Amino acid sequence: MHDVLIIGAGPAGLSAARWCDELGLDTIVFEQSEEVGGQLLSVHNPIDNYLGLHADDGRELRDRFVAQTKDCDFDLWTQVEIAGVDLKAKRVVLRSGEEVKAIAVIIATGLRRRKLGIPGENEFAGRGMIESSGDRQAFAGKDVCVIGGGDAAAENALLLAEVCPTVTLVHRGKKLRARREFTEQLHTNHCITVFPESVVHRIIGHEQVEAVEIERAGAIKPFQMAVQGVIVRIGFEPNSDFFREQLEMDDRGYVIISSEQETSLENVFAVGDVANPLAPTISSAVGGGATAAKVIASRLQKR
Ligand SMILES: Cc1cc2nc3c(=O)[nH]c(=O)nc-3n(C[C@H](O)[C@H](O)[C@H](O)COP(=O)(O)OP(=O)(O)OC[C@H]3O[C@@H](n4cnc5c(N)ncnc54)[C@H](O)[C@@H]3O)c2cc1C
Repeated sequence: MHDVLIIGAGPAGLSAARWCDELGLDTIVFEQSEEVGGQLLSVHNPIDNYLGLHADDGRELRDRFVAQTKDCDFDLWTQVEIAGVDLKAKRVVLRSGEEVKAIAVIIATGLRRRKLGIPGENEFAGRGMIESSGDRQAFAGKDVCVIGGGDAAAENALLLAEVCPTVTLVHRGKKLRARREFTEQLHTNHCITVFPESVVHRIIGHEQVEAVEIERAGAIKPFQMAVQGVIVRIGFEPNSDFFREQLEMDDRGYVIISSEQETSLENVFAVGDVANPLAPTISSAVGGGATAAKVIASRLQKR
């Protein structure tokens, strides 16, 4: 029996773990990936809005978080596959068959990229579907399509245009939702074409991606455009499927919490983006982790 189980080792989970250590709580952190850091690993632009420091990209900030937790006394289990969670009993069962119990659980599972759900999207994973523009050198010299109209889509289009002869940005809306700094660069970059009010219906190919089928507003019928790479950036959804039947959530699957970060179940807390549909940031994730750890510590003191 442990004091705290933390699920997820992004900024929220790492902050909670750091605070649990400081408060003397016996803590285990479960992370499904090989590396900790969550979304920070896909931030390729400088981070200047996390107060107190500048990082050239998310990985640098992640490294600083890791350095600051290096000597902490919590157990970190990476590449863990959770088979089931009984939140009432505060019990986590791993795919390996191992069962771990605690007095409190902190859910810090963050967000995942939303998928389009169109033919070809899953089939061409690793065969032309671009996971991250961090891998853009693999697409150097190729024509690519970026799907989405927000900051992430715009940023990826700009990064890909550094190595790709043509980048076509396809988005549903009339206007891009990306910040002005990005949209200005998009419109002046001669490699980038923007298709507003347009929808990609399927990704086509044999061994590799060869084309996308696009429908443009006002066009008589969809057309095929030859590309060798496609990246989808249409937003995020919470990693809360595991807990769906056990906790109160909003209609998009974000966990509902109190000002103490507590969910609808006693001693089950949710921190960071998984419980923050309005304004997810590194700062709020880190702050939520601290709050949950402090609330748990003060409750355990009173037991
Ligand atoms: C491109 C980009 C740029 C951004 N730029 C900024 C910025 O400039 N400033 C800013 O403040 N924010 C920025 N953000 C947002 C910021 O990264 C997030 O708000 C922050 O990472 C949220 O932290 P989190 O710990 O709640 O979730 P996440 O970072 O999503 O971490 C969740 C962790 O939980 C793990 N996990 C999920 N499910 C399970 C499971 N079942 N079992 C075990 N582990 C699990 C995941 O693998 C992941 O490691 C950006 C995000 C992106 C994608």
